[in-house]
Amino acid sequence: MPSPAPPFPARSHDFAPYAPCPNWIAGAWTPAASGETLPVYNPRHAEVMGHVALSGAADVARAVAAAKAAFPAWRDTPLKERVQVLFRLKALMERDLDELAWLVSHENGKVLPEAKGDVLKGIECLEFGLSLENMAQGEQLDVSRGINCSTTHEPLGVCAGVVPFNFPVMVPLWMLPQALAAGNTFVLKPSEVVPYGALKLASLLQEAGLPDGVFNTVNGSQPAVEALVDHPDVKAMAFVGSTKVAKLLYARGAALGKRMLCLGGAKNHLLVVPDADPELTATTVVASAYGCAGQRCMAASLMIAVGEIQPIIDQIASITRKLKLGEDMGPVISSAAVDRIHRYIDGAEQLGAKVLVDGRRVAAPGGKGWWVGPTILDHVRPEMPAGCEEIFGPVLSIIRARSVDEAIAIENASPYGNAASIFTSSGAVARHCIERFQAGMCGVNVGVPVPREPFGFGGWNDSLFGQGDLTGYDGFRFWTRPRKLTSRWSLSKDATWMS
Ligand code: NAD
Repeated sequence: MPSPAPPFPARSHDFAPYAPCPNWIAGAWTPAASGETLPVYNPRHAEVMGHVALSGAADVARAVAAAKAAFPAWRDTPLKERVQVLFRLKALMERDLDELAWLVSHENGKVLPEAKGDVLKGIECLEFGLSLENMAQGEQLDVSRGINCSTTHEPLGVCAGVVPFNFPVMVPLWMLPQALAAGNTFVLKPSEVVPYGALKLASLLQEAGLPDGVFNTVNGSQPAVEALVDHPDVKAMAFVGSTKVAKLLYARGAALGKRMLCLGGAKNHLLVVPDADPELTATTVVASAYGCAGQRCMAASLMIAVGEIQPIIDQIASITRKLKLGEDMGPVISSAAVDRIHRYIDGAEQLGAKVLVDGRRVAAPGGKGWWVGPTILDHVRPEMPAGCEEIFGPVLSIIRARSVDEAIAIENASPYGNAASIFTSSGAVARHCIERFQAGMCGVNVGVPVPREPFGFGGWNDSLFGQGDLTGYDGFRFWTRPRKLTSRWSLSKDATWMS
C-alpha cells in the first residue's frame, strides 16, 4: 500500500514547511531520476516551504510507461464503474476541504476564501465528470432494413496535461474528470511553482480506489513538458498557461500528429457605459480586477470607460483604496512578478497614464513576502504596454473612449480573446456589444464571465489554440474519439442499401 501524502498541518497564514514533493508514478512516490529538486516558495512569506522534483525525459518515460500499462484494464472497466472513483474523490475532497484550501493558500498566496473557491470550483468540475455516466451514451439508428449505424466514444490511451500556477487544484480538474471517466490514463505535469495541490489530488485519487498507473504526475519545468509532448505514447495533451508557451506547445504537438488543446493568456476588456448601475459596476469591477491579486486569466485587467462615467470611476477608486492587503488580497506569486508588474506601472506613468491608486509602495503584511497593492492606471492608451499586454497582477488599466463602437474596436484589436463584458442597463447596447466582441466568454453586468458547469470554458484567438472548449461536454469530446459502426443483422436479403 503506497503511503499517502502527509497531511498539511497549517490552519493559519503562519509559515509552515511541508514535505518534499516527488513524482507520483504507478501508485508510488518517486524522486526524479537525477535526484534534482527545485525550491517551492510560500509567496506571503517569501520563504521556501518545500522542494519539488525536477524531472527529465527518463522520469517522463517511466510515468508514460506506467500509464500505458494501466490503460487496457481501465479502458475495459465500464464507465459507470470508472466514475465511482470520482464520486469517492468528491467526498474525500469535501472531507479535506480545509486542508486543501490552506495548502493552496500557502503555495499560491491566495487568501483563504479564494483558495477555498479554487477547491470548490474544482469539485464542481468533478461533478460534471461524474454526470458523464448519465450523459455519455453513444448514438445509434437503423439506417436501412436490418442495417444499424452507431457511434461510441472511445478513449485515446495515454493523455497528458500541463497546468499553470494560478489554480493549483481547479485547473487539473478541468482535465482529469472527463479524461479519466472516458477511460484514458493520464500524466499530469503540475506547475513547479505550486506542485502540492496535485500531490494531494494524487493521494486522494489513490484513496478513492483509482488503480495504480491510471493517474501519474511528473514534476518539473520545460524539459519535462517537452519530453511529455514528444513522447510517442502520449496521444493527446491539454495545456493551460501563457500564450507564448500555449502557441509553442500546440505547434510542437500538432507537428507530431497529436491532439492538442492549449489555453493561453488574456487581456479582458470591460466596457462601462453611462447608464450602467454605478454600485453594481464599481463593486463588480473591483472584485474582478483584484480577486486572486489579478492573477486570473478571467480578471478584468482593462476597463473601457465610454463617455462620461467619472462618478463610477471615483467609486471604483474609493473601494479599491479600502482593500486590505493580506485580508482582501494576497501576494503575487514571485519577486519576478513584483518586478514585472512595477515595470508596467512605471512604464504607463512615463507614457502619460495617471496612477489613480498606486500599489507600488505598500507595507507588506508581516513585513515580508511579494506584495503589490491594488493599482488603477487611468488615461491608458491602447498602444501602451499596460493597454494591450497581459500584466497578470492587481492592476486595472482604464482607457477612455467616446463611443461604444470605439470601445468595441479597441477590444477587437486585442490579439487575445478570453473574456469581455459590458456594463449597461440597456439590453440593446448589451446585445450590440456581445454580437461584436472578439471573445469566447462574454458577460453582461458580470465581471468574471466564467461559464459554470455544464457550460464549457475556453477563449478565442490567442487565448486558445485548438478546437472546442476544455471543460463541459467538449472536454469529453477532446479526450475521446468516435468509433462509427455499421452492422447488418438481418435474415432478409435486402440489397437496396449500399452493399
Ligand atoms: P506558464 O506558461 O509560464 O506555465 C504554465 C506551464 O507551462 C507550467 O507547468 C510550466 O512549467 C510550463 N512551461 C513554462 N514554460 C514552458 C516552456 N517554455 N515550454 C514548455 N512548458 C513550459 O504560465 P504560468 O505563469 O504558470 O500561468 C500564468 C499564465 O497562465 C497567464 O498567462 C494566464 O493568463 C494563463 N492562464 C490561462 C488560463 C486559460 O484558461 N486561458 C487559465 C489559467 C491561467
